Amino acid sequence: MRSPEELVAHLRRMGIEDPLVLRAFLKVPREEFLPEELKPYAYHDTALPIGFGQTISQPFTIASMLEMLRLRPGHKVLEIGTGSGYTGALIHEITKAPVYSVEIVPELARRARETLDRLGYKDVHVFVGDGSAGLPQYAPYDRIIFHAALPEVPSPIVGQLREGGILVAPVGSLHHQDLVAYQKRGGKLVEIERRPGFVFVPTVGKYGFRGLGP
Ligand code: SAH
Repeated sequence: MRSPEELVAHLRRMGIEDPLVLRAFLKVPREEFLPEELKPYAYHDTALPIGFGQTISQPFTIASMLEMLRLRPGHKVLEIGTGSGYTGALIHEITKAPVYSVEIVPELARRARETLDRLGYKDVHVFVGDGSAGLPQYAPYDRIIFHAALPEVPSPIVGQLREGGILVAPVGSLHHQDLVAYQKRGGKLVEIERRPGFVFVPTVGKYGFRGLGP
């Protein structure tokens, strides 16, 4: 695949249907979030290394998560695991509202901020730190998304999600996770959708996998 159009046709064939998600993939130039030598692979449906043992997520995986998140214009979103900043840009293309994004590796956060600023994504706000307990200062959020694997949803997150809001996270073991969407109903998280069979880098930090440092 050589262009956003070819990538989107592929995502459609893979079963992604949400028109807002597909349109966002047409709008955000993925090559801008990649190191020079990887730009030729920007529209391949694969994860690619961005340094510090981290990756820019696979487009199909991101598309699945964003579809499960049921994003709409105006939603205030918290994302944990900025990485390259690509997913923050995709989310903002759909919501046109503030995106709060937390990254634990300072150098990745710095680069993501630089890329997002250069492309004009001024409303994607990148914070450095352990996001495994969320980002309470801008709560409540309409949507929360984790981009790294978790053993279970961290308890402090629930209070940061608006009633009726949706959270998507890869939940499971270190080597295998399901994408799970939860909706907050009556103050509790209720599972509303599950798509099995994904592998993410682990969430580190307080509520990540025990024993993994940043
Ligand atoms: N959405 C990003 C995905 C990056 S991979 C992209 O497509 O570019 C997941 C990211 O989560 C990594 O950058 C990793 O450093 C970060 N991460 C892991 N644990 C974290 C934590 N506790 N707080 C914030 N970020 C975390």
